[in-house]
Parts: sequence; structure tokens; C-alpha cells
Amino acid sequence: MTFDTLGLSDPILQALEDKGYTTPTEIQRKAVPAIRAGRDVIATAQTGTGKTAAFVLPMLDALAGPRTRRAKRLRALILVPTRELALQVQDNIEQYGKHLSVASMAMVGGVDLAPQKQQLIDGVDIVVATPGRLLDLAHQRALYFDELEILVLDEADRMLDMGFIDDLDKIIARLPQQRQSLLFSATLSKQVKSLAESVVDNPLEVAI
Ligand code: AMP
Repeated sequence: MTFDTLGLSDPILQALEDKGYTTPTEIQRKAVPAIRAGRDVIATAQTGTGKTAAFVLPMLDALAGPRTRRAKRLRALILVPTRELALQVQDNIEQYGKHLSVASMAMVGGVDLAPQKQQLIDGVDIVVATPGRLLDLAHQRALYFDELEILVLDEADRMLDMGFIDDLDKIIARLPQQRQSLLFSATLSKQVKSLAESVVDNPLEVAI
């Protein structure tokens, strides 16, 4: 099986070819068509399975088309447990999106707020964030969610282990109800399932 059977657009297929990736991984084969179709998804997949591309590729495709609503508003939010993961996911977005004009940024703690605020003013389609820093900027009204189309919780189990549940609840409460939600987790504990229930709607569950 090759990537073009997943229905991804040419600029993304080109970026995959540039990276030398020829075959989608199992999680990509299972999750990409559902995400492209607009479904909510709960995916159980460990790091190393290609899970990041499984949500980044269809997200880039969805955001690459002409913008129909107000410019310079956030369209997709990816929440991750750590700064390192945020930078890694952001790097993946840049690589897979290099032939597209989709603007993204990592929003992590430990660096100056001012440049992050300026980037938001300039206009960003995708933010990859740790929950704490995202809430800081939301409280400062540097960030609006009214045009948000896609939410991803990546490594949801680790976010819960790290005590982010209150932050996650506060963030989710600010998001539009009408959106696509994707939850990725290495394990599907009771706690993760309960978080999932508050986030996804009629989800497709995929496990690898
Ligand atoms: P992840 O599970 O997202 O951390 O990805 C693990 C590694 O696999 C990363 O270095 C990816 O760049 C790489 N990768 C993702 N998808 C593919 C693919 N279809 N073929 C080969 N490598 C891939």
C-alpha cells in the first residue's frame, strides 16, 4: 500500500517522498481516512508507530484549502504533555507542510511570551502547545478559539499523569462545540476514557 491511496493531496505526497517515506504505517492506514472524512477519532498508539503523521497529514490537508472565514484566527490546536514533544510535533508539521502555506507554531513555557504573542498577531493556523502556556496566553487574550476547527490531544495518558486535567477542562470549555476532535494515547485507561467522553463525539476507535 502507498500513501496516494489515502487520498492525500499532491503537496503532502511530495513532502512524504522528500522524506523517503513510501508506505503508511498501520495507525496511518487506519486513522487518516477517518480523519479526512471529518470523523472524531480515539486512537490507541504508542510513540514510534507514526502516530504524529497520522493526525498531522489529514490536518494539513484540511487546512490547506482556501480559508472561508476570518483570517488570522487559530484553526487547529494540538495539546501535548511536554515542551520537547511540542517542538517535535511542530517540526513534523513544518516538514510535512513544506509545500503548503499553513502557518504553525509551538507554544511552550520557558521562553519569552512576547515573540509568541507577535506570531499570533501575524496569524497562525496551527498551534502546538502545552496546556499551561496555552492557558496563560488565552487569559491574556492573545489567543481566540472562535474559529477553531480541529482539536488534537496527543499522548492524552501522559497529560493526565502529569496532572493537566484541570487545565485541559478549562481549555476545552473555551472551544467551539462544533469541531473535529482527535485523541491519541498509548493506553486507554478509565481516566483517559472519561476525558475522551468530554471531548469527542461519535468517535471511531482505532487501536494498533
Ligand atoms: P511517531 O510515532 O509519530 O513518533 O513517529 C516515529 C517515527 O517514524 C518518526 O521519526 C517519523 O518521522 C517516522 N515515520 C512516520 N511515518 C512514517 C512512514 N510512513 N514511513 C516511515 N517512517 C515514518
